[in-house]
Amino acid sequence: METTQPLVSDDAQALEAWYAFPAPAVTQQLDVNPERGLSEGQAAQRLATAGPNRLEEEEDEPFWEELLEELREPLILLLVGTGVLYALWGELFDALVIFAVILTVAGVEILNESRARRAIAALRELAEPTTTVLRDGELRELAVEKLVPGDIIRLEAGRRVPADARLLTAASLAVDESPLTGESVPVDKLADLTLPRATPLAERHNMLYTGTVVTRGRGRAVVVATAWATELGQIAEAARRVKPPRTPLQVAMEQLSHSLVWVALGLSVIVPLLAWLLGGQPLRQMILTGLSLAFATIPEEMPIIITMVLALGGYRLSRRHAIVKQLRAVETLGAITVIATDKTGTLTENQMEVSTFYPASARDRLLEIGVLVNNASPGSVGDPLESALLRAAEAAGMDVNQVRHAFPLQVEFPFDSDRKMMTAVYEREGTLWVGSKGAPEAIIARAHHSCLKDSVQTLGEAERQALLEQAAQLAAAGLRVLALAEKCMPAGPLARERAESNLTLVGLVGLADPPRPAVPAALAEAQAAGIRSLMITGDHPLTAAAIARAVGLNGAGRVLTGSELADLPDDALRDVVKEVSVYARTTPADKLRLVRALHADGQRVAVTGDGVNDAPALAAADIGVAMGETGTDVAREAADMVLADDNYATIITAIEEGRVLFENLQKAVAYYLAVKVGLVLSTLIPVLLAVPVPFAPIQIILMELFMDLAASAAFIIEPSEGDLMRRPPRDPQQPFLDRAMVTRIMTGGLSLFAGVSLAYLVTWYTGRELVHAQTVAFVTWFIGHVFLAMNMRTEREPLLRHGLLSNRLINFWAAAALAFVALVTLVPPARALVKTAALSGPDWALAIGSALVSTFWMEVRKWIPVPWRNRTG
Ligand code: ATP
Repeated sequence: METTQPLVSDDAQALEAWYAFPAPAVTQQLDVNPERGLSEGQAAQRLATAGPNRLEEEEDEPFWEELLEELREPLILLLVGTGVLYALWGELFDALVIFAVILTVAGVEILNESRARRAIAALRELAEPTTTVLRDGELRELAVEKLVPGDIIRLEAGRRVPADARLLTAASLAVDESPLTGESVPVDKLADLTLPRATPLAERHNMLYTGTVVTRGRGRAVVVATAWATELGQIAEAARRVKPPRTPLQVAMEQLSHSLVWVALGLSVIVPLLAWLLGGQPLRQMILTGLSLAFATIPEEMPIIITMVLALGGYRLSRRHAIVKQLRAVETLGAITVIATDKTGTLTENQMEVSTFYPASARDRLLEIGVLVNNASPGSVGDPLESALLRAAEAAGMDVNQVRHAFPLQVEFPFDSDRKMMTAVYEREGTLWVGSKGAPEAIIARAHHSCLKDSVQTLGEAERQALLEQAAQLAAAGLRVLALAEKCMPAGPLARERAESNLTLVGLVGLADPPRPAVPAALAEAQAAGIRSLMITGDHPLTAAAIARAVGLNGAGRVLTGSELADLPDDALRDVVKEVSVYARTTPADKLRLVRALHADGQRVAVTGDGVNDAPALAAADIGVAMGETGTDVAREAADMVLADDNYATIITAIEEGRVLFENLQKAVAYYLAVKVGLVLSTLIPVLLAVPVPFAPIQIILMELFMDLAASAAFIIEPSEGDLMRRPPRDPQQPFLDRAMVTRIMTGGLSLFAGVSLAYLVTWYTGRELVHAQTVAFVTWFIGHVFLAMNMRTEREPLLRHGLLSNRLINFWAAAALAFVALVTLVPPARALVKTAALSGPDWALAIGSALVSTFWMEVRKWIPVPWRNRTG
């Protein structure tokens, strides 16, 4: 646990009740210039004393501890036992080989695990929360962990408060403090207060506390405490250890490998026992055979393979702009059947441009309201729609800053996706000026007058309809439409209802936001892959329909609006979601209902979202997808995956990766188990025929080494098969080890067994020495298991079409395996060590021939089109 020494100067302790002092006293005490923030140098010094701003501790095991842990595993102990027996019974070299294998296996395992762990750590770093900080006079995004007392932070709606802080400025700021106080109603915050020392936590309206969330408005504050010195740190009992929860697949694999252990152990007893009883083999030799067999057949690697594939897959996704926060998501991605996406920013570029004014003559008036009711700052990033309004104003020759600062802002009622409008109130020479902008329906419903025709007129029903019609025309052209209105009112209470009523409508603005170029192809790819795409937007139904048409979102025919959704009971909605793909003027609550309806229909849903209110829908989805560029902290926290580029096409890329990953996992595990089946059968059957075991114990141990290496490393990077994205999504109800996979394992295992046994028994029955027959079996095995690995790289696509040499790890492994065979048969000293004999030409022909024939037929089968083999599971 880090103990923070929070304060910078000695007498600062006196100031712990930061809320009891005016803001300037606080910044002075913390030795920071509120206009420039800390310098990087100061911040680094303070970070060294205060420690990182986090309430979690990471576990980091030193290397030697990992090695020991690895060596303590029962399996390795088994091997050590075998080595010791070998040494005792006089075969010193065998004992040495065994110890070398132990070290290699343990080393590979540690390497694999550390790769996985590094990938997970890199992912965690990518998903690390950030906050906006002022340092050296510049605003920047900084990892929350790096925050120190004295930092000036800027917060706005949707951001999580990263440290305890004293407010310096606040505009309509409200904060949800329920994580700290349990109070679910957001609390209004004000900067210009000094409070009595006795003020309880829940009433310190000039303070912000770690872990709470800004629900509305903006503010600037100075950090007064970080990590364990914060109020949240004080109540957190102990360091939360970060250990990622295990995914369903990881758990399933652990269970499977536990039950297979007993099968493997049983066979490792039966085989040598039978050989001793039936075949009269020497007891000592058979004990060693049993131990080696146990070592080679116990499937201890399976859980490690899964973890590694998921972790490395997650890392690979991050390089393609999809940052996975839960490994579970990597697993689920391939099973997604529906993607429910936003429109702005995901399907479109989020590069808005003002393109139309209605009426054209009101342009300047409209732009002025657009500038005054606006949160973006000129030149820098803000809401793209608001930035577009600023740019248009500047282009029309307006001095944005001058317009904004001509009168003092009294209050702002920020935009939210339920009201679909925002309002700002300025004081103008004793009276109040109100400006509003928002969705046309929202504004027109609150307007009683209009000044469309140069003079102010009452807005009658006919005029309202005409205006809505006008807005619809702009929307039908794919534009995002805003209505702008204003009014003057006498000074008085600044309640929202009072401000947002009886407005005078000034006109409409249409903004263009072009579709992203990659989207149409990605949508088509999703469709081919059996994945439906839905658009759920807050925008106008006609804008939604126009964009849907432009990007080729299928079923662009019907558009359902939020209010139509509200009229549908849940069971009717379940049917509607099967057909309608575009939903407009929706609220976040509608989105949640749609997710639930899709679930009720048996779909597995990926949902995008960016707002605070989107969190429930993101959490309810199978995969919640948050926007990395425009999303709020709350949405990012609720999500399973973050799109670094906000792009819909990235979701499809991620799904594709998810599918490849899952297939490769199945291939790796199938191969891993197939060779074990092959090994068990190859030893069991000869023994039943009262023929000696076809492999010497030392050979079995070396075989295991190569089997393991291929399965645990090489299949992971296998490129996808050509039809991957033309197949329907996997059914997650189907077990990982489904029928098709069991068939593949058995076919592979039986083929390898057939090849090895053929070569071995032919050699044995022609009266050759045991060493000779065993060498033929050993060589057949090595060549056969290389062919089998090659064959199992694809399930449906013939290897020649897939790319014979497209997996460089397998190439490397295959070359190593074949070189090893050459070494231990051609080089006399190596022969002595591995207990092999020199082979003749016909021996080689027999070994290679049976290895080839036994596996080649499976490759031939892939060329024969068998429609019913097109597994959909
Ligand atoms: P999308 O799915 O396209 O991302 P959304 O669901 O985010 O859309 P909202 O941002 O809720 O949609 O916008 C809904 C409507 O509210 C818009 O059509 C627009 O008329 C209005 N609107 C959007 N942003 C603002 C804003 N900053 N100020 C005022 N009105 C806005």
